[in-house]
Amino acid sequence: MSQPHTEKPYEKPQGERRGLVIINTGNGKGKTTAALGLLVRAQGRGLRTRLLQFIKHESANFGEHRSLKALNIPFAGLGDGFSWTSKDLDHSKELAQMGWKEAREAILSGDYDLLVLDEVTYPINWGWIDVQEVLETLKARPHMLHVVLTGRNAPQELVEYADTVTEMTPIKHAFDAGIPAQKGIEH
Ligand code: ATP
Ligand code: MG
Repeated sequence: MSQPHTEKPYEKPQGERRGLVIINTGNGKGKTTAALGLLVRAQGRGLRTRLLQFIKHESANFGEHRSLKALNIPFAGLGDGFSWTSKDLDHSKELAQMGWKEAREAILSGDYDLLVLDEVTYPINWGWIDVQEVLETLKARPHMLHVVLTGRNAPQELVEYADTVTEMTPIKHAFDAGIPAQKGIEH
């Protein structure tokens, strides 16, 4: 049974504040949009943020990119836009590996307080980026750096290490009823 809203849901935490590893995974909609929400929240608090997108092309100019520009939140598209159907998989793989090098440098640089690695689970699951190297890099991150990772089928090693993991569960999706992607909702 659900608790009445008046009850305090949590004990007062006793731990120290530190940077978190946050994973948004699962097959439902909302993984990337929730990560964008964190970027907006963090930027509003003066945190140094950056979005690195492993599938999106560098020229992507969706609604979120337009808003991020207006909010001065830096972002980079590191992929070729359509890796899963890409005719040139070697090129996609090379882009993902170059993207990971950039992400790794950003994580270790000390220049950021919150980094989002959007859709990073895909190149990891395809074997293009070594999951152990991702794990070691996250472990070596600056004490106060938050890192958000998104994408379906988050690797178990990362789920175990992360602090906050949310699985988006689809109950319905408009695509299933034949409704196409819409501006401002999907892109
Ligand atoms: P969003 O970017 O909307 O937060 P997401 O990051 O959770 O979505 P992805 O797996 O990255 O989801 O897929 C991105 C695109 O696929 C979005 O256009 C989204 O609406 C769509 N999508 C997400 N979940 C589903 C689903 N369960 N069925 C069909 N399409 C989906
Ligand atoms: Mg996504």
